[in-house]
Amino acid sequence: MQNASNPNSNTLTIGRFAPSPTGALHFGSLIAAVASYLCARQHQQSQWILRIEDVDTERKIKGAATSIIKTLEAYGFEWDGGITYQSERSIHYEAALDSIPKHVYRCSCSRKDLQKLSTNMRYGYNYPGLCRKAIQNPEVTSPSVRLLTNNEEICFQDGCQPELFCQNIETDIGDFIVKRRDGLFAYQLAVVVDDHLQGVNQVVRGADLFDNTPRQIYLQQLLGYKTPDYLHFPVATTANGKKLSKQNLSPEITPDSKTSSLQLLIKALCFLGQDPPELHEFANLDDFWQWAMSHWNSHAIPKTMDIIYSDR
Ligand code: GLU
Repeated sequence: MQNASNPNSNTLTIGRFAPSPTGALHFGSLIAAVASYLCARQHQQSQWILRIEDVDTERKIKGAATSIIKTLEAYGFEWDGGITYQSERSIHYEAALDSIPKHVYRCSCSRKDLQKLSTNMRYGYNYPGLCRKAIQNPEVTSPSVRLLTNNEEICFQDGCQPELFCQNIETDIGDFIVKRRDGLFAYQLAVVVDDHLQGVNQVVRGADLFDNTPRQIYLQQLLGYKTPDYLHFPVATTANGKKLSKQNLSPEITPDSKTSSLQLLIKALCFLGQDPPELHEFANLDDFWQWAMSHWNSHAIPKTMDIIYSDR
């Protein structure tokens, strides 16, 4: 473990916000921006990077990245350096895969085959290792690339969730895809390579990604990368347990949204267990950020995976 989460250490803490441009910012993603920003900025020496995770070009919505960037600017977030776009970084993902040839193999099993044969549904259906034995489905011509996993537990201690979390990737998930059939690199690989190349040593993100972390740590170990500190804050859900997203009508947040930026930032802080003053006590956004940076307490974040969010 590094020391990126100890505010008193002299280490340069590099955090990041890594939205996927699948729509405008909404309240759930504003929480992610606020939490990652303040966790980084509470350190004397910090950088906070903005990375647009548009590796999955099929899910990308036109104009969404620009809208997210404009909103972040209007809300007073200040990132370090230029913005990176995963869609421009394939060369790095390819090089990472090329460096571990013994740990990857091609697989042409279809999703349908796999669903039928799955032996463990804990994290969605697991991959039973069909292609390890070179059983190929002849109907599928362009294969995906899977990462060979092993029967060892990967454990990590999260900065927010109270228990040590362990996962046996081979039995719980199976050999997972690192490059898709359509030639696109998978999120798991892209995020690990980018965090490493950008020197990120503090990952703060929603608990919906909590159980992806052992896969990312496993990849880091294979590639010889350091493992950052992880903190997963609870995600905002609707009353029926769905994560807030554009799809379930969590209102979009843009610079001209009806609710003021200050109001929403205060709401985000409250959601994260902080105790900000009332709206009228802040003169402007600068005033808000000054208060937030000097009072941020990551230990106050509720230690749970999700919280029902009511917009009233
Ligand atoms: N791009 C992911 C999202 O928008 C976040 C990935 C991460 O923080 O690791 O949900």
